[in-house]
Amino acid sequence: MSFRVEGMAEPVDLPSRLGILPFRNKVLLPGAIIRIRCTSPSSVMLVEQELWQKEEKGLIGVLPVRDTETAAVGSMLSPGVGNDSGERRLKGPADVLDSQKQDGKNPQELIHWHNRGVAARALHLSRGVEKPSGRVTYIVVLEGLCRFNVQELSARGTYYTARVSRLDMTKAELEQAERDPDLILLSRQFKATAMELISVLEQKQKTVGRTKVLLETVPVHRLADIFVASFEISFEEQLSMLDSVDLKVRLSKATELVDRHLQSIRVAEKITQKVEGQLSKSQKEFLLRQQMRAIKEELGDNDDDDDDMAALERKMQSAGMPPNIWKHAQRELRRLRKMQPQQPGYSSSRVYLELLANLPWQKGSEEHELDLRTAKERLDCDHYGLVKVKQRIIEYLAVRKLKPDARGPVLCFVGPPGVGKTSLASSIATALNRKFVRISLGGVKDEADIRGHRRTYVGSMPGRLIDGLKRVAVNNPVMLLDEIDKTGSDVRGDPASALLEVLDPEQNKTFNDHYLNVPFDLSKVIFVATANRVQPIPPALLDRMEVIELPGYTPEEKLKIAIKHLIPRVLDQHGLSSEFLQIPEAIVKIIIQRYTREAGVRNLERKLAALARAAAVKVAEQDCTVQLSKDVHQVTSSLLDARLAGGAEVEMEVIPMAVNGQEISDAFSSASVLVVDEAMLEKVLGPPRFDDREAAERVATPGISVGLVWTSFGGEVQFVEATAMVGKGDLHLTGQLGDVIKESAQIALTWVRARAADLKLSAAGEISLLENRDIHIHFPAGAVPKDGPSAGVTLVTSLVSLFSQRKVRADTAMTGEMTLRGLVLPVGGIKDKVLAAHRYGIKRVILPERNLKDLAEVPSAILAGMEPLLMLLKSSTLSSHPLLSPTSATCLLLYSKANPTPSYGCFCCCL
Ligand code: ADP
Repeated sequence: MSFRVEGMAEPVDLPSRLGILPFRNKVLLPGAIIRIRCTSPSSVMLVEQELWQKEEKGLIGVLPVRDTETAAVGSMLSPGVGNDSGERRLKGPADVLDSQKQDGKNPQELIHWHNRGVAARALHLSRGVEKPSGRVTYIVVLEGLCRFNVQELSARGTYYTARVSRLDMTKAELEQAERDPDLILLSRQFKATAMELISVLEQKQKTVGRTKVLLETVPVHRLADIFVASFEISFEEQLSMLDSVDLKVRLSKATELVDRHLQSIRVAEKITQKVEGQLSKSQKEFLLRQQMRAIKEELGDNDDDDDDMAALERKMQSAGMPPNIWKHAQRELRRLRKMQPQQPGYSSSRVYLELLANLPWQKGSEEHELDLRTAKERLDCDHYGLVKVKQRIIEYLAVRKLKPDARGPVLCFVGPPGVGKTSLASSIATALNRKFVRISLGGVKDEADIRGHRRTYVGSMPGRLIDGLKRVAVNNPVMLLDEIDKTGSDVRGDPASALLEVLDPEQNKTFNDHYLNVPFDLSKVIFVATANRVQPIPPALLDRMEVIELPGYTPEEKLKIAIKHLIPRVLDQHGLSSEFLQIPEAIVKIIIQRYTREAGVRNLERKLAALARAAAVKVAEQDCTVQLSKDVHQVTSSLLDARLAGGAEVEMEVIPMAVNGQEISDAFSSASVLVVDEAMLEKVLGPPRFDDREAAERVATPGISVGLVWTSFGGEVQFVEATAMVGKGDLHLTGQLGDVIKESAQIALTWVRARAADLKLSAAGEISLLENRDIHIHFPAGAVPKDGPSAGVTLVTSLVSLFSQRKVRADTAMTGEMTLRGLVLPVGGIKDKVLAAHRYGIKRVILPERNLKDLAEVPSAILAGMEPLLMLLKSSTLSSHPLLSPTSATCLLLYSKANPTPSYGCFCCCL
């Protein structure tokens, strides 16, 4: 069905009788155009008589008929019976019903005529070729014009005619009605809805432009019919539209129908869009993937992404994740599969899954039955001395043997650098047949270093522990938390609190790394920690650890370590053997005494390595000369000379040579042995850095004293220099001093001034030692920050020496905190301090009396090596001793191994 834009609105003169064309189950509305093919005798007759043979354009009436029994009684009429509102029934040969192609319905059935129809004008008529049987067919294009009411239906030959009366208003009536405000409102409403429909249709088809013209030119009562006729609605609705003779009723009905149609279009559109969207997205992806595959093939890039994913999934499957984590990983993998490699987040998701796949969720080193004897041998073989430490480690291992899941405390080796803390931990791993991983915590201030960064951060990564476990690929390694005392806390959190969780056997079963975001079981890991000092370790952390102190080594111990362990190792690392290089004991002793002054043996190892490097050069040069010597007689060693001439000592880690030691041995078995002598030592290592005369030389003038301090490198000797000059009595302090040490200097000065007369520094009655002079105290090694109270005694000595103009004995060093009243309080690190004094060749050490017990820790070889007299400053608890001078608050308790009965002397006897 269609409609015509032009010439539609003109009113028609309706004749009183019209030939009737029955329209089966359809309705022709005014304004609509239909094309029908007439084949039945009745319709052919109708067209021939009413249209074809008429000279002017004729009109016929198109009357809806219903051919089913479901017809609503009262709304239809039967031919021959005049009935305005009812229906007429036709029984018999209903050959009239051919307006549409016959659809095989039984012609005997009841036909219900509607009592209202539409007068139609033929816009086009064409006659088909006459068949041999004499039958003709017509094709008619009809345009609906106006509604009519059937007054009476009667047969004329084979077709029907009806007496009709016009139902639509005349022009004058229309004009009248159009002024009705209700109608105006209704028509506006209708036009708006119609406009909406048009704009929706516009997006779909281009032809709606014509419809818009209609909206502007056609009167609204016509528009209603035209619009409703243009889309498909049920027969009942078409009938009711036809029956809406009243303009207002027609408009509101049309508005409703148009609106309903609009909604249905919208819903349909939404559904199509959704389906189309889904389709097109997957189609697009498919297309792109195909293209990508083609490009990869073209480039010869065969690492197929899918294969890659499958490999990753296989790896994840074999990682042995716990079920809940496996589910999580699968979810993440699904997400990754949907992503394109160029998409942001792809690589981070991929790296994350790789980590999950690489972590040792189940995998651990196989544990053999622990043989304690072998473990002991192993420890003895790797480390000289350290008897107590080794004993404790064996105990620890024994407990583990009896109860493998024992939750003993975490061992924490505390001591200066180079005393073997790390190598002990690695020996534990070897003894237990486990892998060893070292996590360096020095300088870690950010909690995220331990726990990892959340994955939302750019550049996020797992914490050091998880990373370490990924590296060793087993879940039961020996993990060394190195330099646990060097962690600090700042605004980025407290790493120590994260470590608490790690070391707590109750909590570390479900250690939560922020990056990993799923719990990881650390309970199988054996933790060992190292630290230089105990004090900086947070108490809560310390509580979970068992501290094993490793003091520095004595020179004798160092010598043994060097001979037994360091030299063979260094030679091996440099591809040498004792056949090429020999370092005699005497030379090692010199290195220990004059080239290294440290608690551990790391520098010693470096110096030995320097010798080995120089020897390697010589051996390598001999290699050249052996081959050349057939022609060239002069054996040169220019490389070595150049190296030796430099004299500079090389402070570097040992870099193992790539050459296999055995090969060198074979090639130069004829080469002579190189024995290191003092000359070579000086050439390679340069002139000695330290000697025993240092203290004597430095303490050459009054006002200088030798103190003993404790640093994270072990004990150290610290000189204190005091001098006086013309001034106003001020005290100047230099040498990067902290508050505590500055206060100690003030206290020392006050105390010396208060005791000036007792100490015979000034005549009795003369109070001020500072009259017209300033005192300046300096702690050399000004670049090193210093603090702590233990310099009190040294400061006093230095000031007394200055004021009395008597030199301090160069072979005496001292330590001790001093109160304002002259009490000497005990200090820490006695063993290290005594060892340091020994290294400096100092023979006497002045210590607070209450530190006497600490001397038991000092190796007896050291005490024996020192001059038998040790001097202990007494604290005032002994002031009631009968031998004490009542005037002298500070006396010296002379302690002698040879003479165990203490004797007393005055403070200044050390000067
Ligand atoms: P730390 O961890 O205490 O700083 P290391 O464990 O790194 O020290 O030791 C430094 C070097 O000294 C290592 O090569 C180590 O084998 C060696 N070493 C230290 N103490 C001993 C010892 N008692 N016996 C043998 N070698 C030792």
